[in-house]
Amino acid sequence: MAQLVNLQVDDAIQSLIKTAELVAQYGGDEQKNIEKFGKMLEQLICIKNDAKKADKAFELSKDKETIAEYDKTFSHELSKQPKCKPKSTDEYKRVMEEIGTLLSMNMEVVASGSTSVVQDDDFEMEIEISDIDPLTKRRMTHPVKNSICGHYYDKSTILESIKVNPRLRCPIAGCGNNQFVQKAHLVEDPVFRMKLQRRNEMNENN
Ligand SMILES: [Zn+2]
Repeated sequence: MAQLVNLQVDDAIQSLIKTAELVAQYGGDEQKNIEKFGKMLEQLICIKNDAKKADKAFELSKDKETIAEYDKTFSHELSKQPKCKPKSTDEYKRVMEEIGTLLSMNMEVVASGSTSVVQDDDFEMEIEISDIDPLTKRRMTHPVKNSICGHYYDKSTILESIKVNPRLRCPIAGCGNNQFVQKAHLVEDPVFRMKLQRRNEMNENN
């Protein structure tokens, strides 16, 4: 059961990040309240945690012969398990960092070819933003980042490619990452998606 719950809650967490992305772009200060996002995230993480606890308690009580024994063992095992502390999980820290970055992004992304100038009040820097998928040479619709080397690929093409060739290495020329690309290396990067989106909007307006 926990597996199913996990999938659904993971979807909900992605939606929460997506919401932060939208709020950062279109929302007012009232909506940019990171504490509200934190509270929702805590609840979501605890739902997963509860499902895991119930699974564990079920495993330990499923062989009991009577319903009464089962009930007793189940609630006993459930109560023995530690309380959910969502804020101390890696997932909480990682997602909140993402949301925090999104909410604080008030910078102008100005496009100029494949490099963009990001301007903030305090700094100006050039960053490389390319939305071209290295495998298909098409514009990426859903970029994901290789967490090992930081390169981006389109989610569907990279997943398809590693299915066909599990010994595929990062296709970016000169990349020092020697590991075969694995699904576990691929992470969502909503900040990058937002930068691309902003740049594309600017290009359309020009
Ligand atoms: Zn790479």
